[in-house]
Amino acid sequence: MGFSTKAIHAGNEPDPTTGAVTVPIYQTSTYAQEGLGKHKGFEYARTQNPTRLALERNIAALEGAKFGYAFASGMAAIDAILRLVHAGDHVIVSDNTYGGTFRLFTRILSNYGIEFSFVDTSDASNVEAAIKDNTRMVFLETPTNPVMIISDLQAVSDVAHARGVRVVCDNTFMSPYLQRPMEFGVDIVVHSTTKYLNGHSDGVGGVAVLNDEKDAEWLGFVQNGAGAILSPFDSWLVLRGTKTLAVRMEQHDKSGRAIAAFLEEHPKVEKIYYPGSLSHRQHDLAKRQQKGFGGMVAFDVGSLERARTVLEAVRLCTLAESLGGVETLISHPATMTHASVLVETRQRIGITDGLVRISVGLEDTEDIIADLDQALDKA
Ligand SMILES: *Cc1c(COP(=O)(O)O)cnc(C)c1O
Repeated sequence: MGFSTKAIHAGNEPDPTTGAVTVPIYQTSTYAQEGLGKHKGFEYARTQNPTRLALERNIAALEGAKFGYAFASGMAAIDAILRLVHAGDHVIVSDNTYGGTFRLFTRILSNYGIEFSFVDTSDASNVEAAIKDNTRMVFLETPTNPVMIISDLQAVSDVAHARGVRVVCDNTFMSPYLQRPMEFGVDIVVHSTTKYLNGHSDGVGGVAVLNDEKDAEWLGFVQNGAGAILSPFDSWLVLRGTKTLAVRMEQHDKSGRAIAAFLEEHPKVEKIYYPGSLSHRQHDLAKRQQKGFGGMVAFDVGSLERARTVLEAVRLCTLAESLGGVETLISHPATMTHASVLVETRQRIGITDGLVRISVGLEDTEDIIADLDQALDKA
């Protein structure tokens, strides 16, 4: 079955009681039981909810996984995945991961005896060198936010698996339409559904999918036991979002390429970060493991003043955090999404004061380019 067919049908069976074609929002906290110990598989809505279940099946199918668990946010999903490791265990993490992930690991989970090493995972030999006897997990993000560093999913999975270490990939930037990490050996895929999967900037959520039965059982136990579940309404929004994921991603990718090409030629732009550009040092790897390059483009205009001018001069693009929605968003990583990342780290990986990030939306490509052009002219 093709991707769009799965996106529209997996988990989306017509409602058995009414025939409703769209999975209803089961807005209930509990379910009537027919007798003691006799029920329809639903007892209490933290534990099971039909709308959430439909979404979990849908995204698992899109990533090629057997099991899926939906959470209240991307961070809640990542936090739940980290419950697979224990005090005394070691986790290797991509060194320019999403700021919220960095904060969760260094400021919260490190208080519970979990040890983290942040390494440049774009070279699998760095991962290999960082593996210790107590390493239990490698946590990748690829491409990274916002400078688009790519990790070789197959190479990292190979070195980790040789030492019995599981690999997690945050696939938020690509979505399963453009990248399916499990096809390269990754064990667990996590998404902030807030971004491309929901796609309309109107809900916060997260999902984790995997194949290993023991890990899946524990993740389900954590979902219910810690309780950071996705609500029925938010589950429904994401379920609606994934139905158009393929057509949306095609257009994000098409406009992303056009805008990256425009920026690359613009005299006010010193450097662009886009895996689809031939100037990207990992362009070939991106082509190998991604189906496209997506709608995230970052570019450096050289100084904070120029970045500020661009960010304040745009009229169509909206100055805001987040990404993956229908509207084009523009942001300043150094002071917005990556403010919690150490200054030295920011400088080393290229998150300079002049860096601007765009989440290319679904407006007409020419309109987005015209807006960026007039804003750059003022810089
Ligand atoms: C937004 C984001 C997250 C966090 O997700 P929330 O839904 O905001 O909690 C994690 N990883 C990446 C790559 C993200 O972009």
